[in-house]
Amino acid sequence: MKQVYISLGSNLGDRVDYLNKALNILSTHREIEQLHVSSYYETEPAGYLEQGKFINAAASLKTTLYPLDLLTVLQSAEASLDRVRTVRWGPRTVDLDILFYDNLVLEDHNLIIPHPRLTERVFVLVPLAEIAPNLVHPLTGMTVIEHLEKQSETGGVIRL
Ligand code: ATP
Ligand code: CA
Ligand code: CA
Repeated sequence: MKQVYISLGSNLGDRVDYLNKALNILSTHREIEQLHVSSYYETEPAGYLEQGKFINAAASLKTTLYPLDLLTVLQSAEASLDRVRTVRWGPRTVDLDILFYDNLVLEDHNLIIPHPRLTERVFVLVPLAEIAPNLVHPLTGMTVIEHLEKQSETGGVIRL
């Protein structure tokens, strides 16, 4: 079993319900076990700013799925939860990203692990620090908490 961390986000429709439903899909998958979820946080949009606030969370799980197969599971969950792909970083009912997959470092055309933007995103680091503060990033050698402490502004992330 591999130890995996994912991030979840939603800023369209009933955001809490979308995250709950995404987690339910994962928790009932036969190759996914021991799903643990952080609190939900309301966060300011990043990247494309003219959109509603997000709810973000992080989750840990154990799985026998290979990385690309896990990505397929996450993307089919997104599709089944009304995700329509429009502008990059734009509004979405649910976004499920792989943050870490054990200590794997992977740069595939469709999948980069660890997620390349996690170290600069407080909306990822704050929920992740709640469930895995001492997890070490395989490329930077720094823990999640250390990455979070480097951020100047964490005020836009409110625990629900
Ligand atoms: P960001 O990657 O900056 O968080 P996003 O989540 O909004 O942006 P999407 O439109 O959801 O981007 O996904 C674009 C593509 O990113 C996906 O089709 C997938 O192939 C690719 N991708 C690369 N690395 C990952 C990863 N670690 N987790 C999920 N998707 C990834
Ligand atoms: Ca994302
Ligand atoms: Ca994504």
